[in-house]
Amino acid sequence: MENLDWASLGFNYTKTDWNVRCSFRDGKWGELEFSDSEYIPMHISAACLHYGLELFEGLKAFRGADGKVRLFRAEENAKRMQASARKLCLPVPSIELFVEACEEVVRRNERFIPPYGTGASFYLRPLLIGSNAVLGVRPATEATLIVFGTPVGAYFKEGIKPISVLLDREFDRAAPRGTGEVKVGGNYASSIYSGERAHKAGFSNVLYVDAAERKYIEECGAANFFGIKDGCYVTPKSGSILPSITNKSLRQLAEHLGLKVEERAVPIEELSTFEEAGACGTAAVISPIGKIVDMQTGDIYNFGNEVGEWSMKMYNALQDIQYGRAEDVFGWTREVVL
Ligand SMILES: *Cc1c(COP(=O)(O)O)cnc(C)c1O
Repeated sequence: MENLDWASLGFNYTKTDWNVRCSFRDGKWGELEFSDSEYIPMHISAACLHYGLELFEGLKAFRGADGKVRLFRAEENAKRMQASARKLCLPVPSIELFVEACEEVVRRNERFIPPYGTGASFYLRPLLIGSNAVLGVRPATEATLIVFGTPVGAYFKEGIKPISVLLDREFDRAAPRGTGEVKVGGNYASSIYSGERAHKAGFSNVLYVDAAERKYIEECGAANFFGIKDGCYVTPKSGSILPSITNKSLRQLAEHLGLKVEERAVPIEELSTFEEAGACGTAAVISPIGKIVDMQTGDIYNFGNEVGEWSMKMYNALQDIQYGRAEDVFGWTREVVL
């Protein structure tokens, strides 16, 4: 793409050439449809608009050092979309349908896939919405799967830098036995108020605690949390945490690099014992956390202004696989033949 300034791209929507849609009607999925429109025709009483019957995914394609384009763990996103769809009683797309739709979006927008070396990547946003007209609350009988993509810039433009996070005991992102473990828009709706409050106070993100007891760390905004101490990668386990594919990958990498891995309840007080802390997700891979401030008690946990050694190692190891610089020993990537 001649006139796109790859270096100045942020995490914003840029129009691309094609998106893919697939409708579920009369009990079955139809054919993939390709559209160059950014709009969808929608009924004013569609279930997604009124009752939040909406879920989504986020994954990336990377142009590698060898020029090949690779999708990162798309089957994992497909499985997670299936889990989200089951939870919202929406029709469940097959893994093949999901992956094919993603590959088509990559292929048909090839000129928007950032060149290697710019730090930019191609972000894919699959979403599934209940689309039939309803008035009463009940499962949607019709649904639309949409996949679009957009080039996004390097997350850290001036190098990977630790962030400040506000620990908020006042608001919850997700309830126990609610929908916290699936990727639904409703969870984001409940996080926007506390997120804005943190931003206004000068923090990058909110660290949520468990809604039932307010004793354990849950998630860092829309990213999973991890801490490192005594040669061990520790990440919270809870029924209301979204299972991050980045976190899953980091756990495997951590083990590979010689760390122990613990997935368990992490009490708030344990924060003071970590040597490194971070938030992880597709957008940034790892956002190292430099400081956590407990909004209600005033406690401050400092992890330093430099990226920790293990965080840096894991960050590099994961990006090396994504950009095809290292052998994909875990089988995480799939080449999209253009
Ligand atoms: C998407 C998401 C994540 C990160 O998941 P990845 O698969 O690593 O991108 C973490 N927490 C929440 C709440 C999310 O929605």
